[in-house]
Amino acid sequence: MNSPEPRHAKGSLLMQTQAPGSPAGSAAREAALFQLADAARILGLDDGMHAVLASPRRSLTVSVPLLRDDGTVEVFKGYRVQHNLARGPAKGGLRFHPETDVDEVTALAMWMTWKCAVVNIPFGGAKGGVTLDPNRLSAREVERVTRRYTSEILPLIGPERDIAAPDVGTDNGTMAWIMDTYSVNAGYSVPGVVTGKPLTLGGSAGRAGATARGVVIAALAALRDAGRSPEECTAAVQGFGKVGGLAAQYLSDAGIRVVAVSDAIGACHHDSGLDIAALRRDLAAEAITVAEFEGGQPITHDELLTLDVDILVPAALSGVFDESNADRVKASLIVEGANGPTTPAADQIFADRGVVAVPDILANAGGVIVSYLEWVQNLQAFSWSEEEVHLRLRNLMDIAYSEVASISRERGITLRQAAHVLGVGRVATAARLRGMYP
Ligand code: GLU
Repeated sequence: MNSPEPRHAKGSLLMQTQAPGSPAGSAAREAALFQLADAARILGLDDGMHAVLASPRRSLTVSVPLLRDDGTVEVFKGYRVQHNLARGPAKGGLRFHPETDVDEVTALAMWMTWKCAVVNIPFGGAKGGVTLDPNRLSAREVERVTRRYTSEILPLIGPERDIAAPDVGTDNGTMAWIMDTYSVNAGYSVPGVVTGKPLTLGGSAGRAGATARGVVIAALAALRDAGRSPEECTAAVQGFGKVGGLAAQYLSDAGIRVVAVSDAIGACHHDSGLDIAALRRDLAAEAITVAEFEGGQPITHDELLTLDVDILVPAALSGVFDESNADRVKASLIVEGANGPTTPAADQIFADRGVVAVPDILANAGGVIVSYLEWVQNLQAFSWSEEEVHLRLRNLMDIAYSEVASISRERGITLRQAAHVLGVGRVATAARLRGMYP
């Protein structure tokens, strides 16, 4: 297993750029800055370049007033952060979640910058968020919030400026409303302002399952590196949403025994493997939660994370692995479907224990890869078949995985450090070539 670089103190830059916010948000931002500082040290970046890369290029906070169905008015906070544009237009999802804040969105925007660079697609990184619980609102209310948020961030977005996509709490319907709001204001249809749209509005074949497909491509590549075959491996998947549900399905299609999965409410387990297709069918057909699935026994979230499995796929929110549970994780391979699931403290514990983590900015890049393919198709008013999209996705994921794995081997650093060395290094090179204006 790769041994990590020695522990090092958090730099003063980290302290200076810390902004007050929710504990989860500031922990995510702290983690992103810690990972950048680590990569800057390994790459030998000068302090000026490090400072540029640590600072978001633009950050817009907006108030989003909503006329509720009952006639009352509620005001939500929204954000769009463009972290870095050195390699191309800003790209990144939009999150609706009650705990999101500007710190979390800033961290997620920074991770998008490195993610796009790791898989070598010509985008900078961005993220958006609105602090709200979409489950508490009616569908019409969510639509009104989406449209008002879009109109508040209009000056920042556009197919050459900043392209949104689904993230936690948003989906292809949300993207349709953003595309419509932008297009009505422009006076003509602009499909390229968002990706992850419905197919009929210019969405790409293969986008819905792209993140999950990429997660499984990364998992299989890591198994190959470890000399293990899928058929001899078991997996647990934390989160059964857009990423986790399909990741469980594709893992099982690849011959891996998926023995446990969870959603926000609970988890279920079956030693000889869950029938994921049946579970997905039951969830779609009935109002049940994962823990109520008849084909498994309910277990707790903590039990799922510490199950004796080979592969663990976190596919929900950030900060899942920390110093309270990292030493109890029994899986030897973690493949990060979520953004930021592993805190730096947990990362150090994993590295010390020889647990391999395929980092978020590589493992879950399948989504933004197919977003890139969707954007290219939109700009050309052209569409590729699902097979062509799958092929291009696989190709870009395989190249990125093998580049990261060879940096990890050559430098004796973890896959997360190697992915950051690749991504941060590419962005720093682009920034250096462009030079400083004025
Ligand atoms: N929200 C996804 C991510 O975190 C997709 C972003 C995109 O397609 O722009 O990678």
